[in-house]
Amino acid sequence: MNTEIVDFGNIKTGMEDKILLEKVKNIFRKISSAAIRSERNPFDVKLIAVTKTVPFDRIKVAIDLGLRIFGENRVQEAQDKISDCRLHCIDCDIEWHLIGNLQKNKAKSAVQLFDLIHSLDSAELAALLNKHAERAGKIQRVLIEVKLSEEETKHGIAKEHLMDFIEAVSAMKHLKLEGLMTMPPFFDMTEKARPFFRELRELRDKAEKEGYRLPELSMGMTNDYEVAILEGATMVRIGTGIFGERR
Ligand SMILES: *Cc1c(COP(=O)(O)O)cnc(C)c1O
Repeated sequence: MNTEIVDFGNIKTGMEDKILLEKVKNIFRKISSAAIRSERNPFDVKLIAVTKTVPFDRIKVAIDLGLRIFGENRVQEAQDKISDCRLHCIDCDIEWHLIGNLQKNKAKSAVQLFDLIHSLDSAELAALLNKHAERAGKIQRVLIEVKLSEEETKHGIAKEHLMDFIEAVSAMKHLKLEGLMTMPPFFDMTEKARPFFRELRELRDKAEKEGYRLPELSMGMTNDYEVAILEGATMVRIGTGIFGERR
C-alpha cells in the first residue's frame, strides 16, 4: 500500500497517490454498500478501473493499491500500456478489458491484448474475433453490447435482434460469451438511468430462461454505478471517479 509515501523530491506525487487511495477506498465502500442493499455479495461486483487517457505511471499506482482489472476504450491507446504492464508487473495477474467500440480492422490486435471484450456488437465482428482467437489458440471472453437508447452515438445490438445474436455467438467455438453490456444516455439524475439497467437485466434473465448462461452484466460508470449495482451490475466501469477528470 502506498499510503505513506514520503518523497521530498516529489511531494506532489505522494499527495496524488493519497488522493487516489482515498477515491478507491470510497468507491469500494459504495460498491459494497449498494451490493448489500440489493442483497448481493459485494465480491460479486467487479471494479473495472477505466484508464483511457491515464498514463502508465498512474496505472502503476493503482496496481500498487490493489486494483487488478483495467478498462481501455481504444486498441491503439491500450497497446503501449499493456506492454508496459506486462514488463513491469510480471506476477500481478492483471486483466485488461476493452470497453469501447471495436473496429473490425483491430479485431486481431484486440484478441492479442484483451482478456475480455465488452463491446461485441455485430455478427461480422464476432466471426472475426472467433477466427483470430482460433489462430491465437485462445478462447476469447466477450460480452454483447446492447443498444437500449436511441442516441446515434451509442453502439450495440438492437434488443429485437439480441436473442438471435446470443444464439450465434454461443455457437462460436473460440468465443466464450459471459454476459451483456450497455451504456445508457447521460443523466444528471441517476435514477433516470435505472430503467436502462433494469432492462438489460431483464433481457439477460430472458436469455437465461432460454438456457444460456450469462452471469455478467457490465453497466454503470462514475455517475451511476450505484443504481446499476442495485439493478444487478456485476461489473462497473469507473474512470473519472478514480483518476479524476480526463484531459
Ligand atoms: C470512459 C468510459 C467509462 C468510464 O466513464 P467515467 O464516467 O469516467 O467513469 C465507462 N465505460 C465506457 C464504455 C467508457 O468509454
